[in-house]
Amino acid sequence: MGNLVAIVGRPNVGKSTLFNRLTNSRQAIVSDEAGTTRDRQYGKCEWTGHEFSVVDTGGWVVNSDDIFEEEIRKQVIIATEEADLVLFLCDIKNGVTDWDMDVAQILRRAKLPVLLVANKADDNKDTYGQYEFYKLGLGDPYCISAATGSGTGDLLDKILELL
Ligand code: GDP
Ligand code: MG
Repeated sequence: MGNLVAIVGRPNVGKSTLFNRLTNSRQAIVSDEAGTTRDRQYGKCEWTGHEFSVVDTGGWVVNSDDIFEEEIRKQVIIATEEADLVLFLCDIKNGVTDWDMDVAQILRRAKLPVLLVANKADDNKDTYGQYEFYKLGLGDPYCISAATGSGTGDLLDKILELL
């Protein structure tokens, strides 16, 4: 049984914010500018007495306009090869994008558990948008706010169940 959890998703969805919350650190750089986290960051998360490793796969080249489908594919494939579980992070305020659809297709074919996470669900109003995420074909979305921590407890319980 391995215990590496990879956070994947397009730029600016909050991967580094979630990484920092899970690892209780400010290790990963959080920025409004898409593509700020260039390198893969590793950390440890502890929850209800269990520990696992987390990787922030932020290395999405320069900025979102310059990112080619091939680069997305590469990053996601690396994550599926090295991790035991993938958190596919989306932005509930933005809804499902073409990018999300592309990444979901790769993840559906991968032979590891994937949890669909709709981030930026800061209040109840935001969660109305969750139903659109079913079209990604990855099951129920976990609505969380990486910024406030809302919903992350249920997500962590599920991660431990699957690892
Ligand atoms: P990354 O590019 O996926 O690593 O995204 P970042 O973690 O750098 O976050 C991108 C932006 O989204 C930053 O301005 C964050 O403060 C913001 N952000 C991250 N999580 C949340 C959240 O749960 N709610 C809101 N409203 N903003 C968030
Ligand atoms: Mg980042």
